[in-house]
Amino acid sequence: MGGISPQPHLISIFTTTTIFMLIEQPPIIYRLLYPKTLWRVKVPPAKKTVYLTFDDGPIPEITPWVLEVLDTYDVKATFFCVGDNVRKYGYLFEEILESGHSVGNHTFHHLQGWLNTPKKFLSDTREANSLIRSGLFRPPHGHMIIPQPLLLRKAGTRL
Ligand SMILES: [Zn+2]
Repeated sequence: MGGISPQPHLISIFTTTTIFMLIEQPPIIYRLLYPKTLWRVKVPPAKKTVYLTFDDGPIPEITPWVLEVLDTYDVKATFFCVGDNVRKYGYLFEEILESGHSVGNHTFHHLQGWLNTPKKFLSDTREANSLIRSGLFRPPHGHMIIPQPLLLRKAGTRL
């Protein structure tokens, strides 16, 4: 594992039977502003389901360890990747795909929607998708301004 020690709080997700998790909820105003965005997934009440996602990779310091832990427990996840990291560490991106996980776009430069024009935000997202090739998108920090989500959806992206 190249000297990277596992992080105990992540290990506990897989090894304990009782899990206490603080799940950050987006402000209700976001859900009202963007009603067509995927905020929650409904599953049958009897079916206990956890959707794992990892953002900002792939990076050599963490991604190989995450893949190893997921493989150990035969768990699949979705990796929202930063395009520049995919460019730098393409071998890790390929490893994610070869391991059967899903990938999503997290912009090329991890841009905050609030701090960038819709044109720049869309262009950066398209640049990332030239490498990531996914219809899934998660905005960095969860921040976007109108009309960024509308433009992304029009371009075929699922938010
Ligand atoms: Zn991020």
